[in-house]
Amino acid sequence: RAKAINRGASQYFHAEMGIDARERFKLLKGLRASFEERRLFVVYQPQVELATQQVIGAEALLRWRTSDGQFVPPDQFIPLAEQSGLIVPIGEFVLRTACFQIAQLRRNGFSDFRIAVNISLAQFRHPGFIDSIRRALRDAEIPGGALELEITESMAMEEISTVLRVLAEIRSTGATVAIDDFGTGFSSLSQLRRLDVERLKIDRAFVHEAQSSAAGATIAQLVVNLGCSLGMRVVAEGIETEEQRQHLLALGCHEGQGWLFARPMPADQLEEWIRNRPPSR
Ligand code: C2E
Ligand code: MG
Ligand code: MG
Ligand code: MG
Repeated sequence: RAKAINRGASQYFHAEMGIDARERFKLLKGLRASFEERRLFVVYQPQVELATQQVIGAEALLRWRTSDGQFVPPDQFIPLAEQSGLIVPIGEFVLRTACFQIAQLRRNGFSDFRIAVNISLAQFRHPGFIDSIRRALRDAEIPGGALELEITESMAMEEISTVLRVLAEIRSTGATVAIDDFGTGFSSLSQLRRLDVERLKIDRAFVHEAQSSAAGATIAQLVVNLGCSLGMRVVAEGIETEEQRQHLLALGCHEGQGWLFARPMPADQLEEWIRNRPPSR
């Protein structure tokens, strides 16, 4: 427990290095104002089946454009939102936006489309979290199975009884769960097995290293084998080249996401992108 907290703190420190306290305060003030003024929005990055390149869903990613037109990257503002608690209402906004987007896609004929939403630890622990999922699903009139929630590896390794309870509650809504950025944390394999989640997302760093070093390739293979033997779908993040796609496919990885297929895009372009997608190759 103490270990997990320390790990979170050091990650936070790392992400914030180079930004001093005053700058952080200014940024947080700006974030709060932008959220109220509806200047935060959601983009979507398609996820495909590696073998056929057929689209299976998309990941929702938050974007912040400041009043003077600058983009602040999530890696800078998400930690601030997490530390201040603002991530709870912001996260609910992303969840609801994604659910309404799924509803629109389903109305327009993409009936089994799924969208994955990133969840922060503060949301995961929040007593109103499950209700907010149920409300979002009900208001958008979509089945739970159309929604996936991404929790990071370090969140999945929090105190087992809490994690198991929240995962069971999530499952009761019909939503599925993916473990994000896998390989960057310190997983207990026995805990991972007990979680029984649907997807494992290999962190981008390993996707790149799988190409550039023998050790990287070994780790990527181990992660794919681990996911497969636990009955999970394995997704590779950050695929940028055709060589990477083929390599991950050869390792037994099922799905992929990355610039090779598509960059994150606004909602209106997503539907067009899916429509123009060539059929299975
Ligand atoms: P993540 O969940 O691991 O998301 C994947 C990141 O990889 C995204 O960065 C995406 O734009 C980027 N990416 C995808 N394909 C490629 C590629 O081929 N090459 C490279 N270099 N990058 C690629 P992004 O959008 O900057 O988001 C960064 C992180 O911020 C996310 O990592 C996630 O941890 C967090 N985040 C984003 N949106 C949300 C949100 O709504 N809620 C929460 N809690 N966190 C979010
Ligand atoms: Mg993610
Ligand atoms: Mg990730
Ligand atoms: Mg990441």
